[in-house]
Amino acid sequence: MKMKVLLLLLVLPLAGLCSEDNGDSLRSRYSEQISPDSLRYHLNIIASDAFEGRETGKPGQKMAAEYLADHFNGYGLTSVADSGYFQRFYLSETGIEKASVTVAGSELEFIEDYYFFGALVSNGKRQFNQIQFLGYGIDDSLYSDYRNAGDVIENIVIWEEEPVNRKGAFLLSGNDYNSEWSKDFSIKLKTAKKHGVKNLFIVNDDFDDMVIRLSYYLTMPRVSLWKEDVKDPKLAVYYISEKTARQLLGKDYKPAKIKQRIGNGKDNTSFIVDQHITIDIVKKSSKIATENVLGIIEGSDKKDEYLVITAHYDHLGVQNGEIYNGADDDGSGTVALLEIARAFGKAKSEGHGPSRSVLIMAVSGEEKGLLGSEYYTSNPVVPLDATVANLNIDMIGRNDAAYDPDSEYIYLIGSDRLSSTLHNLSETVNQECCRIELDYTYNDPNDPNRFYYRSDHYNFVKNGIPAIFYFSGVHEDYHQPTDTADKIQYGKMTSVVQLIFETAWEIANTPLTIEVDVEDDAELFRQ
Ligand SMILES: [Zn+2]
Repeated sequence: MKMKVLLLLLVLPLAGLCSEDNGDSLRSRYSEQISPDSLRYHLNIIASDAFEGRETGKPGQKMAAEYLADHFNGYGLTSVADSGYFQRFYLSETGIEKASVTVAGSELEFIEDYYFFGALVSNGKRQFNQIQFLGYGIDDSLYSDYRNAGDVIENIVIWEEEPVNRKGAFLLSGNDYNSEWSKDFSIKLKTAKKHGVKNLFIVNDDFDDMVIRLSYYLTMPRVSLWKEDVKDPKLAVYYISEKTARQLLGKDYKPAKIKQRIGNGKDNTSFIVDQHITIDIVKKSSKIATENVLGIIEGSDKKDEYLVITAHYDHLGVQNGEIYNGADDDGSGTVALLEIARAFGKAKSEGHGPSRSVLIMAVSGEEKGLLGSEYYTSNPVVPLDATVANLNIDMIGRNDAAYDPDSEYIYLIGSDRLSSTLHNLSETVNQECCRIELDYTYNDPNDPNRFYYRSDHYNFVKNGIPAIFYFSGVHEDYHQPTDTADKIQYGKMTSVVQLIFETAWEIANTPLTIEVDVEDDAELFRQ
């Protein structure tokens, strides 16, 4: 026994001296394991018609989950979740079965005259005979629609935004800057609730534009994480057009005149009218069972710290009889996970496992609203505060219109948003191994596409975990049935997967701490 300890003592410092060279060559040795043939092989399976577009909760998604778990097992990943490689969870899908609003016996049209979001209305039928106009619905010491309104009744109509004075400046600020009352919609809701309002009708300034933009979401069922005993909201919110406001409030409702009075310093614009209104809403929820697929390569000396590598394996399923194969979105990221898992598994089996643990996770529910990663970060299987970083892969198989078909580039999003250590490490690794063009176009906080908020890494970011999102851009087959495996550029994709693997390897082995040292808007979420 003693002898062994002595030997170790002799060997360790030597290993320490040349560990850097060793590490780099090992890193590239296992990176070379990742091959275009393997990527193509897996993608031709999971993006085939047999998997029916892998829609969350559907048989195709379950087939993909089994496929991933089998391979994680084969590559020597260990399971950490309750049910083997699966982290099972439920979603609820809520659709509006019936929506009927009548005013004085005549029926309004959903979307034509009004709309609402399912989560902000309650089930059932209600009738009332009076409705009150209450200006902007503001209750501030400088301006209040409530102050002189007497007893506020349960059903009110308010405007969006906030008042301006005769010179066109905002009343509350006296200048060009609007206040929280129009910036944060929830303040008006809370105020109405505090005054006992039950039905809040909001006149939508740009109603016609809004319904064009929202009609898809308003008519589709809403999917969210399943919660037991969801209670209906105490305050129901309906958005109405100017025309509907006139119908509800009758001849006393003269918007231009009222705004003029307010501009002149009056805030007592409230009035109540007798109006017979019936609202009947039937919401229906169903429960969907799905699963994230997780496997772990356990680390050595820092095994209680974790790098999480993610890609979503769900896609859009079958719509109107057409299969949405989702080869690029996100079959590409899914098969990248398999190759990364295989390379780490091989390294580990040959005695070159990582220092930190690497959790490889294929998430479900992404296309329904990043729900698999939301579930995971609310129910993590390894502690979030021991999770040093997340690398997320979503659509890396194609070149977009900004690049030549044969150029090697990847958009990096988020690398510098929380941690300069992570960003520098990522840059250095690319210089050493791959020299792919790293394009930060979409990392610009002002980029209108807002991709930073649109894939699974963002649920990690919200929890203060630095993340890099790897993405090669959108193309004409994005979210179309034509996103098929034959259109993937396997050579370029291999280079990108190797870059991700080498970056992961470095994060898992670096003696540095991936420090959160950059202030980001994620701060807002943590408060
Ligand atoms: Zn995607």
